[in-house]
Amino acid sequence: MMKALAAGVPGQAEWIDIEEPALGPGEVLLRPLVCGICTTDVKLVRAGYAGGPRYALGHELVGEVVAVGEGTRWRVGDRVAAAPYLPCGACFYCLHGQPTLCPHLFENSLVPGGLAERVRIPRPLAERGLFPLPEGLPVQIAALAEPVGCCVQGVEDCGVAAGDMVLVVGDGPMGLLCAAVARAYGAASTAVAGLTPHRLAVAREHYADAVIHVGEEDLRERVAQLTEGRGADVVLVAVSSAEAVEAGLGALRRGGVLNVFAGMPQGTTISLDLRQVHYGQVRITGSFGVGPVHVAQALRLLVSGRVDVAPLVTATFPFEDAPEAVAYAMERTGLKAVVIFEEGEG
Ligand SMILES: [Zn+2]
Ligand SMILES: [Zn+2]
Repeated sequence: MMKALAAGVPGQAEWIDIEEPALGPGEVLLRPLVCGICTTDVKLVRAGYAGGPRYALGHELVGEVVAVGEGTRWRVGDRVAAAPYLPCGACFYCLHGQPTLCPHLFENSLVPGGLAERVRIPRPLAERGLFPLPEGLPVQIAALAEPVGCCVQGVEDCGVAAGDMVLVVGDGPMGLLCAAVARAYGAASTAVAGLTPHRLAVAREHYADAVIHVGEEDLRERVAQLTEGRGADVVLVAVSSAEAVEAGLGALRRGGVLNVFAGMPQGTTISLDLRQVHYGQVRITGSFGVGPVHVAQALRLLVSGRVDVAPLVTATFPFEDAPEAVAYAMERTGLKAVVIFEEGEG
């Protein structure tokens, strides 16, 4: 048996004992090294365990191969970053370059999840969703390849180009990462809007040319000042609310692109001025999740130093304190929490 951290009663993470995964042909067993905690984990813990099979929390995983099934190219001792799930590569959406619309997306994922003593990688994921850690990239940094990959997809979907002014609405870890990735894609200037002074301070220092405290300043006015009155070329909304999207639309220039980047609760709707869409020719897009192509690109951005995630990791926890890592993410006192499985791995 092995320990894994799962959602328990609503609002609390809970240790569970589960069978250590057995390996089939082509599969890989990982000993986790580092696992990041993200909003998805917080959402799962808030919702609580509702019966059915138990999964472990955590999907931002870097690990070491400790056992291999027959017929895999991976070797014991390899260190890898894992995509959390896998598009099939063959359906209509995959063939149209939209991997995260794949209806088979969740058929292959980390078993039982990242926050467990051992993690089984099903064969298709081992073949197409594992990436060797680039030389010299610290494991704690590599663990952010998945969230950085999500931002890569968002920024690419917006077509961020050299010279753009990119506004990110939201000062959480994903908002700051979106700004970082937008810069790596050539944005001439970035702005981050939010409500949390300590997060805005990190944004200002590392990722944004301007920060906007939306409790004290008018977003539209500030962005107008920064853009000769036009508005932002691209707006990424990294807050789960209709108000944030509406505020983002208010700060978007004519002909600009807005991306609904954050997941939205069921029933979230906005009222949209269709004149802004027709005469203003704005485009509204959305980006969800991450494909292997984005994780690979994220690793390149991380190893090249074009995206520096170190300032975002504001807390590390040993595996036995993983529930505290989840609580830390819930409290929003810092930015990103990562779990380090063994001392000396960070
Ligand atoms: Zn994540
Ligand atoms: Zn597919």
